Amino acid sequence: MTASGASVRLLIVGPQGSGKGTQGVLVAQAFGVPQVATGDIFRSNVAGGTELGKRVQAIIESGDLVPDELTSELVRDRLSQPDAARGFLLDGYPRNQGQLDDLDEFLRSRGESLDAVIELIVPRDESIRRLHQRAVEQGRNDDTEEIIANRLAIYERETAPILGIYRDRGIVAEIDGVGSLDEVTARIFAALADRGILPDAPTAATA
Ligand code: AMP
Repeated sequence: MTASGASVRLLIVGPQGSGKGTQGVLVAQAFGVPQVATGDIFRSNVAGGTELGKRVQAIIESGDLVPDELTSELVRDRLSQPDAARGFLLDGYPRNQGQLDDLDEFLRSRGESLDAVIELIVPRDESIRRLHQRAVEQGRNDDTEEIIANRLAIYERETAPILGIYRDRGIVAEIDGVGSLDEVTARIFAALADRGILPDAPTAATA
């Protein structure tokens, strides 16, 4: 799939605290494609005090979703950058049916589609435990008890169902997200390899 010059388009999905950010970076690096994480893009805009940051700050701090129109436009712009021409790894988008439809339409207009969706499966109590740990370590102000509960509820209500749509397309790789970082990474690369999706050259992460 990625023999020199070929492209790969991936999505990583999992509840907050599933480790998808960390795993997403490793997978994107191995494939030489940008990791496009909407949460990171929003947070850096808030930190930088940009116009977009000012519009989304209160929403992010409450744990609610930024409106689809704004989010999808941001993603379309990002995926239109030259570094995403050979593919990308999306993290945190699409998060509901409206965004999935927007992404489908955008990719279709370019004659593209997703190659695989990596689903990281982590039980609820384990993700809550990890989020609390991250709150202590990173001091993210949307990692408080109440906001964590809101974000996980949104995940279960809006994001988990879109996996059914991708599953019907036969592109979901279900990964057990409980284990050490390396164990989970190895499971992801094995599942992608099963689908014929291989990095051009072995890297530290896949060796
Ligand atoms: P994350 O780092 O992915 O947990 O995202 C942090 C916050 O950014 C979320 O709680 C939302 O407020 C916002 N956000 C990130 N991605 C999206 C998205 N695809 N749609 C709407 N809001 C998003």
